[in-house]
Amino acid sequence: MPDLKLDSPLQYVKGVGPKRGEELARHGLATVRDLLAYLPRHYLDRTNVVPINRLRIGEMATIIGEVKAHGILHGKRQRYEVMLQDETGAIALMWFAAVRYWERYFKKGMVFAATGRVTDFMGLQIVHPDLERLEENTDRMIHAGRIIPVYPQTAALSKIGLSSKGIRQLTTFILEHLSERMPDHLPVKEHQDLNLPTLHDAISGIHYPRSREEIETSRRRLAFDELLGLQYVVFQNLGKKRSAVKKHSYAEPGQKLKQIKELLPFELTSGQKKVTREIFSDLQQQTPMSRLLQGDVGCGKTVVAVLAALYAAENNLQCAFMAPTEILAEQHFRNWRGPLANVGVTSDLLTSNLTSAQRKSIGKKCGEGKIDILFGTHALIYDYVSFERLGLVIIDEQHRFGVEQRGKLFAKGDSPDLLVMTATPIPRTLALTLYGDLDISTIDDLPPGRKPIRTVWRMDDARPKILEYIREQVKEHGQAYVIYPLIEKSDQVDLENVEDAYKELTVSIFRDLRVGMVHGRVKPKERDEVLTQFRQGKIDVLMSTTVIEVGLDNPNATLMVIEHAERFGLAQLHQLRGRVGRGEKQSTVVAIAHGPLSDIAQQRLEYFAANGNGFQIAEADLQLRGPGELFGVRQSGLPELRAANLTSDRDLLEASRKLLERLFDKPANLDKPYRSLYQYLRTSSEQRQLQLGGG
Ligand code: ADP
Ligand code: MG
Repeated sequence: MPDLKLDSPLQYVKGVGPKRGEELARHGLATVRDLLAYLPRHYLDRTNVVPINRLRIGEMATIIGEVKAHGILHGKRQRYEVMLQDETGAIALMWFAAVRYWERYFKKGMVFAATGRVTDFMGLQIVHPDLERLEENTDRMIHAGRIIPVYPQTAALSKIGLSSKGIRQLTTFILEHLSERMPDHLPVKEHQDLNLPTLHDAISGIHYPRSREEIETSRRRLAFDELLGLQYVVFQNLGKKRSAVKKHSYAEPGQKLKQIKELLPFELTSGQKKVTREIFSDLQQQTPMSRLLQGDVGCGKTVVAVLAALYAAENNLQCAFMAPTEILAEQHFRNWRGPLANVGVTSDLLTSNLTSAQRKSIGKKCGEGKIDILFGTHALIYDYVSFERLGLVIIDEQHRFGVEQRGKLFAKGDSPDLLVMTATPIPRTLALTLYGDLDISTIDDLPPGRKPIRTVWRMDDARPKILEYIREQVKEHGQAYVIYPLIEKSDQVDLENVEDAYKELTVSIFRDLRVGMVHGRVKPKERDEVLTQFRQGKIDVLMSTTVIEVGLDNPNATLMVIEHAERFGLAQLHQLRGRVGRGEKQSTVVAIAHGPLSDIAQQRLEYFAANGNGFQIAEADLQLRGPGELFGVRQSGLPELRAANLTSDRDLLEASRKLLERLFDKPANLDKPYRSLYQYLRTSSEQRQLQLGGG
């Protein structure tokens, strides 16, 4: 057996071998170092194992017991039940999915540690627990007071036969046979000041802690390193931006802007006026603008962006206005083409919806400078699109795009100004972390006359009543959306889908209503027709998937019903809700949940119904879910956070920023340990960029 080094391929770890080693590498676990970075999800120890007769309802708990009985239960929904027993009692473990799989998996007499929230449903039960099969010896380890790591089990890892227990065998072996220590790039003075362990101790402490406290101190050290990497990227971008100078310049706002404001059917709100001033003032500066415009759904960001585009046009500059969906790009174009033409500004629309000849012709026209404002989707970044004098790049719903896409559009100009927009307001800590290199403008009011949207959630047994309610509402007041999580029936998950629902409801309860359907697989042309009809009031009920989530604007729609609301994140629910309440009439959202509800899902729904403020929703979503999914951290070129928690590790975030300020202040004069940290951070960030495909 060779010495294990951090860079040794995993195949040299006992029990892995070449074939499995290759498979692991394909899942991103190539070396010993990679596996050490794979962190436990939680831990088993005697202190958190509860005897079954002492379980309390509502509590998170781990129990250890033996399978006494197991089997499928039939009913309204099929489910799989396992009775787990210890010396003090028994509890039911319950699964509502993958029933066949569990049937093959369980055998009487197996021993498991199960972790989850205890509920009461004709006796104690845990729905979808975290499960860890124990052998006698692990069982003994726990009872001897050891703390044992439980690793996240992904489908990919299970497929190659690597359970949490399997990973534990590997990490145990590695930590026993590793012949070198993890190099520590954090200067000694820093971890002393911050009271953090060395990297090596943190890694071994996070896998095999000797106490609960050691888990937390180890985690904090790893979290600090993550935050440092994250902030490094932000600081670096900031530096680049501050030193850039643009080639174009702006005169004072002129006639066209004045005219278009007169054409608007409304007055700008004071929030809109404030951010417009901020943006215009940026445009007049010599360094290019990098500004994030944020504001709750429906607050009216589009008009502000269009004013900026028009200001660019007045100064003989072109503007690219990119939106994440065709529906949205088309809507912007349709709404603004007329008013813009009235003040002598040409605009056009480019989406993948057009024929390739059409696209090329628009690309060419734009390259010749004949289009002032080009609206479009991702299609804007393709090579056949060029600009003669691109001065302003606007990106709507920017969290839907990756850095690469933004970068490509940006590169079509010579230091253009950049305005990105989001309706998912970003909590301050996160804004600092992710967008520390952007200035932020916030619209903090809504157009006058908007009524708060009434939101309720119901379990799905109320569906017949809710459908009846839709009928009544659209007969009397206006139009409705019904949102589904799926396009069509799926074998994998048991969810309502829009196609079946459409077939069923249009011949029953919605028989005499005008119903339309859109989803991602409806042909663009047909979809446009449906949406146009909906906007014109020729359709009463629009049945749809979440393709309408982003930005769709129909002020006459006053009711939205969301099926399987438990499947959506808070921010997404709030986005969906933003499709109604856009006019002056009272709007209602009914979220339908399908049981059994996890705790988190229930909290989410309660919060959603009780709270209409996008900023608070975003904070809550961050706490419930972590930032990854929400803000596209994964595709943004920033490292993914495994150990850090942006809500509770604010002190570490501040500390990492302080350290970076020092590094960036005078990189040339740094002491050796600090210089090598700086270099290390640079190299790792370059490697990440490479992995992302050279964005
Ligand atoms: P979002 O900020 O979500 O992108 P939009 O720009 O789509 O919001 O605007 C939502 C709706 O509000 C649109 O119908 C728009 O015409 C309208 N609107 C925008 N500003 C005002 C205003 N100052 N007064 C009244 N209505 C406005
Ligand atoms: Mg919008």
